[in-house]
Amino acid sequence: MVKIKFENARVFTGKNTSFTQQTFCMDTDTGYFIDGELFDKTIDLTGKFVMPGMINAHTHIILDAMFEFNNHFTAVHDTVIAIQNLKRLLAHGVTYIRDVGSTFDIDLILSKLEQENELFIPGIIGSGGAIMMTGGHGRRLGIETDGPDDIRKQSRINIKKGARNIKLMATGGVSNSGETPHDVQLGVEEMRVAVEEAHHKGYTAAAHAQGNQGIKNAIKAGVDSIEHGIFMDKESIQMMLKFGTYLVPTMIAPWAINSHAKQLPNFMVDKSLAITKPLQQSLKESYDAGVKIAMGTDAGTPFNDFENGSAFELQLMVEAGMSAIDVLKAATMNGAMLLHVDEQVGSIEPDKLADFIILNEDPLADIKAVQGEKTVYKKAQLVKYS
Ligand SMILES: [Zn+2]
Repeated sequence: MVKIKFENARVFTGKNTSFTQQTFCMDTDTGYFIDGELFDKTIDLTGKFVMPGMINAHTHIILDAMFEFNNHFTAVHDTVIAIQNLKRLLAHGVTYIRDVGSTFDIDLILSKLEQENELFIPGIIGSGGAIMMTGGHGRRLGIETDGPDDIRKQSRINIKKGARNIKLMATGGVSNSGETPHDVQLGVEEMRVAVEEAHHKGYTAAAHAQGNQGIKNAIKAGVDSIEHGIFMDKESIQMMLKFGTYLVPTMIAPWAINSHAKQLPNFMVDKSLAITKPLQQSLKESYDAGVKIAMGTDAGTPFNDFENGSAFELQLMVEAGMSAIDVLKAATMNGAMLLHVDEQVGSIEPDKLADFIILNEDPLADIKAVQGEKTVYKKAQLVKYS
């Protein structure tokens, strides 16, 4: 049994409002932060900044963001891609994710292997296949399902296979041709039954919702989070506040498309450019109104990588008008609460998993510090030292 005490670091626990000098301890056998007096080893972190491991609430681990593989789309290829993506996330300080649309139930199976300590990857809340209407958004990651009865059945199937979140497609989007972000897709009654099934189990439902009508439909249906939330008006923001709905803005997704416009089809680039400003504005207005925000990147969409993407998302959130401390909260404790894993992760305190990162610079002085060299621990095991 090795108990390690970390001293003299400045620590953002996930719950305090700044980095404060404090000592924290972990047990490498159990993987948890601990309280106690006796330690086998002390590590001095003078001059370092410590924060909880990041939680990315919106990934697609089976997608090949950087076009590194040929398009095979088999279970084996998708699994290879997923494991590579998960290793990259972990090395960059993302210790927990919510995957919101996968193939072959790969996210559900890998989630189970992680829980059983068979694989050393970020913890995963999986969704399995996203529920989409026939012909709707999400083609490769979705299961076409129509009408409340069939959607109830599909939600139950996903949950039976291990999903702890149901992903719903409430509107069209950017990456598929032949639709716009404003297209209304699954209806309120269709989404409501999925939410009901998820909530009966204490799980969550998340809606891809970009246009304002679809956003309102999803909030009315009771989803736990609006993903993207691009075209919001005052009324939808008030509804988010009333229902306690989280916003996961995924700012990097359009940024990555805009930055690689020459390599991508025009329909995608045109839509991406058109949503960039409205997304920034919706985030700013929601944040100012007090809507709960969690960090997610949509990693896996074109050129939206699994390496520095999560830390870069934090920068984009600050640039859109959030304070650095609230962005760090969005990436840690808020994510844990949204995913219903806040008993286990999201903050540095005894009896939570020892998932944390050690930075050389102060992220409150410059949020880019999170993108710099870092040391990463997951379940009290060293992932990467720098
Ligand atoms: Zn997505």
